[in-house]
Amino acid sequence: MKAAVFHNVKDVRVEDVELKELSSTGVKIKVAWAGICGTDLHEYLAGPIFVPLNEENTLTHDKAPVTLGHEFSGIVEEVGQDVTTVKSGDKVVVNPLIISGEHENGLYDMYNDSTFYGLGTDGGFAEFAIIEEKHVIKLEDDTSLKLGALVEPTAVALQAIRESRMEFSDSVAVYGAGPIGLLTIIAARAAGAKDIFVFDLSEERLKKAKEVGATHIVNSGEQNPIEYIKQYYPDGVDRTFEVAGVPITVKQSILSTRPRGVVTVVSIFEKVMDFNPMILTTSGVHLASTLAYEDDIFEATIKMIESGQIDPSPVITDRIELDEIVDKGFKALTNDKSQAKILVKLSGEE
Ligand SMILES: [Zn+2]
Repeated sequence: MKAAVFHNVKDVRVEDVELKELSSTGVKIKVAWAGICGTDLHEYLAGPIFVPLNEENTLTHDKAPVTLGHEFSGIVEEVGQDVTTVKSGDKVVVNPLIISGEHENGLYDMYNDSTFYGLGTDGGFAEFAIIEEKHVIKLEDDTSLKLGALVEPTAVALQAIRESRMEFSDSVAVYGAGPIGLLTIIAARAAGAKDIFVFDLSEERLKKAKEVGATHIVNSGEQNPIEYIKQYYPDGVDRTFEVAGVPITVKQSILSTRPRGVVTVVSIFEKVMDFNPMILTTSGVHLASTLAYEDDIFEATIKMIESGQIDPSPVITDRIELDEIVDKGFKALTNDKSQAKILVKLSGEE
C-alpha cells in the first residue's frame, strides 16, 4: 500500500510499504482523512525531533523509516480476536499518544517517556493503519470523518486551556494564529473567555482568527502587542497562550499578562533561546506549558465536537492527495502563511 514515509530531514517519500501484521489486540483501520500537524512540519524541516532515527524508540521498538501522520480518522476494516470495543464498519478516531502505563497518572508517563503513532511508529498517512485497540475510539455513525481528523489537534488546545487554569470571563491573548493558535481561540471561546486578543504577522491568519472567535486581531509587525493590550487591560490579560514558538513572542506573552496571570507555552521551539527568569520575578506572571493531552481531555474533545459545542472545521484550509503531501502539504505550509490545517485525503469517506 501507499504511505508517506519519513526517512530523514527533508526526506519524506510517498512509497509502497508493507502493512504490519494484525495482532490479537490490534485494529486495522482504513484511513479516511489525516491532518498535517506542525509537528510533522518540524520533523520535515528540522527533524528528527520525535522520530527515532538511529536507535529504536524505547516504547515502540521501532525506528525510521516510519509512516507519518498522527491526526487521523477512518473506518474499521478488521479487528484482532481479542478486540471488543470496536468492530468492522465502525467510524473511529485514533488517540495516537503512546505511554508506558507504568504510572497510575498518565501525565507522569507522558512526561517521563512517550511517543505517538505517526512519529515513534507507523501512523495514518497511509491507506491502512494497524493500531492497538486502546488507542482506537468509536465515533457516532453520523460524525464527519473530516472532523474526526481534527480531534487530536483540538485536544491539544483543550489541554492548553486546562493547563492555563482559565476561568469564565477571563481575558485572553493568543500569540500565533497557526492551526493550534486557531484551535486555542476556539477552545478559549468555548471555555468562556471574555476578550480574545490575537497577534500574528499574517493578515490572512488574523482574518481566520476573527472568524473563529477573536475579539481583537492585531498585526504584531505593525503594532506593539503589549501597548495594544494595555489600552484595554492596563495590568495585562488573565491568560496568554504562546503558540508562535519564537523568542520574541515568549517575552511579549509574559509582558502582556497581569501579575499572577498565566502564560501557557503550547509551541514547539526549533531553536534554543536566551531566557532570563528575572522577567518572571519582576512581573509576577506564572509560566505553564503543555504537551499533548490526557485521555479524558481527548474523550471530551470528541463529545464537544459531536455535540456541536465546538466546531474546528474553519481551520481546514486545503484538502490534498497523499501524493501531494510534500509539495502541496509541507512546502505549502512553510511558504504560504494563509494555510492552517491541510487534510490529506486517503479513502476520503465522509
Ligand atoms: Zn499534532
